[in-house]
Amino acid sequence: MTKSEKFWSKVDRSGECWIWMGGLNPSGYGVFYYQNTKILAHRFAFAEANGEIGGGLIVCHHCDVRPCVRPSHLFSGTHEDNRHDAIAKGRMVGRKRISVASVDEMRSQIVQLQRAVEKAAIEKPVRNSLKREQYEKALLKVIRSRNLEEARRIAIEAINRFR
Ligand SMILES: [Zn+2]
Repeated sequence: MTKSEKFWSKVDRSGECWIWMGGLNPSGYGVFYYQNTKILAHRFAFAEANGEIGGGLIVCHHCDVRPCVRPSHLFSGTHEDNRHDAIAKGRMVGRKRISVASVDEMRSQIVQLQRAVEKAAIEKPVRNSLKREQYEKALLKVIRSRNLEEARRIAIEAINRFR
């Protein structure tokens, strides 16, 4: 298996965001190990699509979903760009942290929730477009939750609202 094949075999591409199913670092970003090297999964995915990343540049998410490795959801920029992006999206407010275990649990929930969104969007594309938007916002809230209880509560609320 090539490095690229091994990488993509660990990605769940069933939802809008493509979720890295391998290990995560304590910040919730995917980590790809290959022959004694390790690289952040979203950086690898970006380089696969766009070529090598320029020196000093970081790879950021349009979607704010840290384990997402879908190239179209990624952009490169400076730390300064990322800070502006974070402020614009309200990510800097509160500076909540979540543990690795919670991230793992939440990731599997997120994958399930995204599948539910995709399924519902196919079944009722127009009528539920607003609900879909609300739902995706709820997914981001789940990721930013301080703990799993909070994440579950937000997820259940979102599912009930969607019905
Ligand atoms: Zn994404």
